[in-house]
Amino acid sequence: MNIALIAHDKKKQDLIDFVTAYKEIFSEHNLFATGTTGKLITNDTGLTIERFQSGPLGGDQQIGARIANDEMDMIIFFRDPLTAQPHEPDVTALLRLCDVYKIPLATNEASAEILIRGLESGWLDWRTIKEKRVRYDG
Ligand code: PGA
Repeated sequence: MNIALIAHDKKKQDLIDFVTAYKEIFSEHNLFATGTTGKLITNDTGLTIERFQSGPLGGDQQIGARIANDEMDMIIFFRDPLTAQPHEPDVTALLRLCDVYKIPLATNEASAEILIRGLESGWLDWRTIKEKRVRYDG
């Protein structure tokens, strides 16, 4: 599965801790992240992560493009609901595309934990069945 990891600044340590806790599971998948989030997680965990631009510089939009291309299977995005973000429109657009394409999305640890345990248990295997995915071929 292709999994994207994103965390706003005040949530980065939470995401590092989360990925560390489930490192064994994450290590079995292809990981992607926005720039700073990816760098910090790699530094702490040693996991290989393909990094996009930093979020405010277009990283969220790059991940959105992967979703639109049917190249992302899960998004874990620890948002900071108490701090205004300069790239709020990009954040909204990314969340919207998750709904358009029915991509599993977690925006906090509680829901991320359920997704990761579900991933481990095979509950997301439907993502590997092409016909079950949302496609808009025009
Ligand atoms: P960053 O981007 O990982 O480069 O900090 C995340 C964000 O703030 O959207």
